[in-house]
Amino acid sequence: MRSPCPEPGRGAHALDQADPLARFRAEFHLPPGRIYLDGNSLGLLSRRAETHLARVLGEWRTLGIDGWTDASPPWVTLSETIAAQLAPLVGAAPDEVAVTGSTTTNLHQLLATLFDPAGPRRVIVADELNFPSDLHALHSHLRQRGLDPAQHLRLVRSRDGRTLQPADILAALTPDVQLLVLSLVQFTSGQLLDAATLTREAHARGVLIGFDCSHSLGAVPHALDADGVDCAFWCSYKYLNAGPGAVGGLYLNRRHFGRAPGLAGWWGVRPDRRFALSDRHEPAAGAAALHLGTPHLLSLAPLQGSLELIAEAGGIAPLRAKSLAQTAYLMGLVESDLAGHGFTLINPRADAARGGHVTLAHPDAWRICSALKAAGVVPDFRPPDMIRLAPAPLYTRFADCAVAVDRLKEIMVTKAHESFPATRPLVT
Ligand SMILES: *Cc1c(COP(=O)(O)O)cnc(C)c1O
Repeated sequence: MRSPCPEPGRGAHALDQADPLARFRAEFHLPPGRIYLDGNSLGLLSRRAETHLARVLGEWRTLGIDGWTDASPPWVTLSETIAAQLAPLVGAAPDEVAVTGSTTTNLHQLLATLFDPAGPRRVIVADELNFPSDLHALHSHLRQRGLDPAQHLRLVRSRDGRTLQPADILAALTPDVQLLVLSLVQFTSGQLLDAATLTREAHARGVLIGFDCSHSLGAVPHALDADGVDCAFWCSYKYLNAGPGAVGGLYLNRRHFGRAPGLAGWWGVRPDRRFALSDRHEPAAGAAALHLGTPHLLSLAPLQGSLELIAEAGGIAPLRAKSLAQTAYLMGLVESDLAGHGFTLINPRADAARGGHVTLAHPDAWRICSALKAAGVVPDFRPPDMIRLAPAPLYTRFADCAVAVDRLKEIMVTKAHESFPATRPLVT
């Protein structure tokens, strides 16, 4: 069925040969026989992540409870060890980062800690394109605080259903607004917002700002401190490759240090007082006060390996450079090779406005995704009509991008997708 692909894509091999990150591909377990373009949904397992997980399992096996103190590094401070590794990726000091929880629980914690329901400003602004879990958290948080989301949650509308206009976001920041919560990169269109400008403009209006960095961390640089962002939160199973359900993280700007954690737990107590097991909560310094319970060591350990690899690759700058080159290359092939087949590129084109993935809209997106997967390329479908292609820079080749577009073209030409069910089953 599939035509052989002796020379995939224009110039793919030359680009791969010149790729300074090429050697990192061998550090990953690649699904056999597949081209994996879904690293923005679940990053792949690296040998390094596996090594660190195996280390912790070994320590558990041989040390039992003593692993908390005698493991190397000790489990009791592993979250802090990893926070220090991760801080450069978000542009923060280590004590402003807590490696804990999940995207959703961290948003809840930051709202509980920063949002004041009693002041004159009681509106939270978010946007209608955000990931549902963030919106669920915002709704339920307002209800917890006795506020009606119908009045106190304002969602910025998207003019095209795909992207946000900065002017529309700023127009929503009226004097009753206390907090603005946005995704730095939209999970659908891949739109990258300008954190520096939005933060400056929000602050000029007396509004706090927080970013969900789930789709940006590991794909684009962050300068949360330099930009003056108030808080941020993320998961680490996407571009950080830390594994399904891995421990996420949060950022709290040091200007907010010293506030009582909204949700308090014993792991947020000062380390030297934690094991005093006092019923008085004495918060740890910095973002560590927002920890809740015992760290999830087994889903923390792989993150250490992933971050080690990113550091060896030279940090986020070379990853971003390759990611931009690959998404640009993909967009070029889509425009030249898939013209006339009903696809629309909906991600922003400008480097400064696009994250790590390319999004194609097509009325038949679900069937095309099914056919593409059957043809050995793993894309990602988002309802109602989006196909996301993410060339994760540590393990994707330019040739992979070229083959993906070749296969897409072949599917459209042969109508191979028409033999797949037209709608997505309810549970997948
Ligand atoms: C992936 C993602 C999430 C996932 O939340 P979890 O609590 O980690 O399941 C939330 N928000 C955004 C914007 C995401 O991209």
